[in-house]
Amino acid sequence: MSSEKSFHKISDLAAAGLISPAKVPALEKVAARYAVAVTPALAALIDKSDPADPIARAFVPSEAELETAPEERLDPIGDTAHSPVPGIVHRHRDRALFEPILACPAYCRFCFRRAEIGRGENALSAEATDRAIAYIAFHPEIREVILTGGDPFALSARRAGEIASRLAAIDHVRVVRWHTRVPITEPEHVSDAFVAALIVPGATTVVALHADHPRELHPEARAACARLIDAGIPMVSQTVLLKGVNDTVETLQALMETLVEMRIKPYYLHHPDLAPGTGHFRVSVEDGLALMRELRKRVSGLCVPHYVLDIPGGFAKVPLDSADVEKTDTGWRVRDHVGDWHEYP
Ligand SMILES: *Cc1c(COP(=O)(O)O)cnc(C)c1O
Ligand code: SF4
Repeated sequence: MSSEKSFHKISDLAAAGLISPAKVPALEKVAARYAVAVTPALAALIDKSDPADPIARAFVPSEAELETAPEERLDPIGDTAHSPVPGIVHRHRDRALFEPILACPAYCRFCFRRAEIGRGENALSAEATDRAIAYIAFHPEIREVILTGGDPFALSARRAGEIASRLAAIDHVRVVRWHTRVPITEPEHVSDAFVAALIVPGATTVVALHADHPRELHPEARAACARLIDAGIPMVSQTVLLKGVNDTVETLQALMETLVEMRIKPYYLHHPDLAPGTGHFRVSVEDGLALMRELRKRVSGLCVPHYVLDIPGGFAKVPLDSADVEKTDTGWRVRDHVGDWHEYP
């Protein structure tokens, strides 16, 4: 990708005025632990005069990331327990995740995969790719392949197209779903050629956009999404509920309404995961439920996402505003898709 102009070093971020020089030493420690990158499209959205700027909060490293709480986990949603071969997570019978690249053009500071992304060998090797695709081919129950990462839109058009065609050539793979943040972080990468590469005979292409704040939906991001949708690709969105970024009903309302205007159906609002060094982003389940109640009062049903928690330990997602969630003396308990209950602090 065209990332030369992106900020990867703490010193570059300081030189651009995105962090104060006094914080450089502490933030070097953050960068040694977790990948850092801010793209020019994101840097242009940041209001440097606002110390609480939500875009900066989501993408510019902070000293708070050095604090790790006891309940936090390197693998917060338990993916490794369900990974039969490298690059595949197969937790639900009919759907498998496929991670062809563990890099992103920009790194979200709250990323649930932050312990494994953006380090060294990022792309799946040719052999590992073959093995992952063979796994899918040998499992006829897999109807839908969900490309994730990292950010699979970080692939070149050629490589994305190759993967899409190989998956679509498998008879039982009916839907190929791409999860991405690139239309926001690097919209120029979503070129007409890239869009064309995603559309392949034999399967339906769907794109899920990860968007957390209405200001992320800048004109170039909207144009990139319009290129995908005009080409016939349906789009849905997912949002992570984040303290200081989008934990007000006004912000969520503006985000969801704008997505619908962009022809994108709000799909998931994720309760923040227990990723290491992300305590400063965490919102309580009570507050999340109250926000959803208020949102539902204000907006069209089209604008209402499912509010979900990925149960720590690999027990999949549970809708938080449902009978599968109960308050306990110490926190919550949630019921997974096979009917087992799990404590959640
Ligand atoms: C979220 C997730 C999926 C996809 O779930 P949907 O609810 O269909 O969007 C599939 N596999 C894993 C491991 C997941 O975490
Ligand atoms: S785009 Fe996704 S995988 Fe990449 S840093 Fe953000 S949350 Fe993590």
